[in-house]
Amino acid sequence: MPLPPGIRLLSRLLAPGASRRGNCTATSPPLYDVVISGGGMVGGALGCALGFDPHFQNKKILLLEAGHRKVLDRVPETYSNRVSSISPGSATLLSSFGAWDHICNMRFKPFRRMQVWDACSDALITFDADGLEDMGYIVENDVIVAALNRQLDSLAGHIEVSYRCRAVGYTWPLPYHTSESSPWVQIELSDGRIIQTKLLIGADGQKSLVRAAAGIQNVQWRYDQAAVVATLHLSEATENNVAWQRFLPSGPVALLPLSDTCSSLVWSTSLEQASQLLNMDEESFVDAINSAFWSNDSHSDFIDSAGSIFRSALSFLMPSGTSARQLPPSIARVDPKSRAMYPLGLGHATEYIRHRVALVGDAAHRVHPLAGQGVNMGFGDVSSLAEHLSRAAFAGKDIGSTRHLLEYETERQRHNLPMMAAIDLLKRLYSSKNAPFVLLRTLGLQATNSVSPVKEQIMAFASK
Ligand SMILES: Cc1cc2nc3c(=O)[nH]c(=O)nc-3n(C[C@H](O)[C@H](O)[C@H](O)COP(=O)(O)OP(=O)(O)OC[C@H]3O[C@@H](n4cnc5c(N)ncnc54)[C@H](O)[C@@H]3O)c2cc1C
Repeated sequence: MPLPPGIRLLSRLLAPGASRRGNCTATSPPLYDVVISGGGMVGGALGCALGFDPHFQNKKILLLEAGHRKVLDRVPETYSNRVSSISPGSATLLSSFGAWDHICNMRFKPFRRMQVWDACSDALITFDADGLEDMGYIVENDVIVAALNRQLDSLAGHIEVSYRCRAVGYTWPLPYHTSESSPWVQIELSDGRIIQTKLLIGADGQKSLVRAAAGIQNVQWRYDQAAVVATLHLSEATENNVAWQRFLPSGPVALLPLSDTCSSLVWSTSLEQASQLLNMDEESFVDAINSAFWSNDSHSDFIDSAGSIFRSALSFLMPSGTSARQLPPSIARVDPKSRAMYPLGLGHATEYIRHRVALVGDAAHRVHPLAGQGVNMGFGDVSSLAEHLSRAAFAGKDIGSTRHLLEYETERQRHNLPMMAAIDLLKRLYSSKNAPFVLLRTLGLQATNSVSPVKEQIMAFASK
């Protein structure tokens, strides 16, 4: 019977002739300062952030990615159906190590306004860009990864990247030091290599093997919803610089600008409706989208009257606070084969760090896409972890020590937990067609829309 990977690794390390200490004999496994498991958007960004940090100049870094190396020698004519709304804070991070320039040279679309409205009432909220600033950017995930990979290529010799390679087993250092045990994390790779590292970073997504192998608990639940994504063509060309989202009782539907004539769809709905949307003919699919944005079937006279009285009162009290409703573009057709669906859920690792281990991105937290925050939270993790590690490296400290890893954990949990709670609350509040709930959120949304300082606070928090 084959041994489990961890035990296999341990027996190979303890085999006669093998070194039992860190990096001291020819037979001991190569030692890296940092190993990042997962080279998606977040792991790739962390690799770049550390690779370009002058305090990491003499450190050995390895990035492991289970998938193929993604490069875009030429930007494809058709848009990818997987896109992300990138906050200005994330764009600043990507600029700090040169990846944003590649993104700008490939393809991205800035947006200057966001309109969010309720399908059960006339309540809406708008967010507008301040002055010349953009509110955010819609970028294809493949473009982000390709830009990061280009920057990683430029770090060859300093950062080693192994594509189509995954960790299959880990042996953790003991909390106390003995002459028999290694002080480092030992990793067995799918290509048979054994390596060790002072710090292992799990950037391996929502099903993180690092998190599971470290025994870190993940609080999680499914939403019994899936997001249907697709690339859409507008009926007519427009400036297309608004991100639209309408809360339907079955879930939010969003239209994100890609160009003057194309937008990307993210429609979160019940699993049943998601598979219907995926399987219907293209014409019916386009009709369903237009109806999702335009139909008022879920309105009720009572809520409409109450909302309208409240809106009049607010516009009397705060005449400059209310903003004009814009009409979303209508859709003419869908790109063939661009439809796909992704099941949705929430997940949060109870700890982001352990001795010589840290989690970033979806490995640490997974959220509903309704606020477009998932990868932005991951990029926030990258900024924070890279900064704490840089300080530790500059001071000549052990980068795998829990002391500064704890500072990273505290900083990020303070940001991520309120964000996750707010997203989950919004998801639940808008899932109901019950009149008291609809009235509550109608009045709440209208009031929030009228109070500029509150909107500014929301924007500042979401754009980090
Ligand atoms: C429909 C939809 C729309 C979204 N829209 C937005 C949005 O607009 N804005 C936003 O901020 N977020 C959005 N998100 C969330 C965002 O996509 C995720 O938060 C983001 O992809 C997480 O990135 P990651 O690098 O942490 O994880 P992943 O993207 O899951 O990457 C993990 C990587 O690790 C690799 N890997 C896995 N296991 C191993 C292993 N054992 N060894 C080596 N490599 C491994 C995988 O191959 C993969 O490349 C959306 C999500 C969905 C589903």
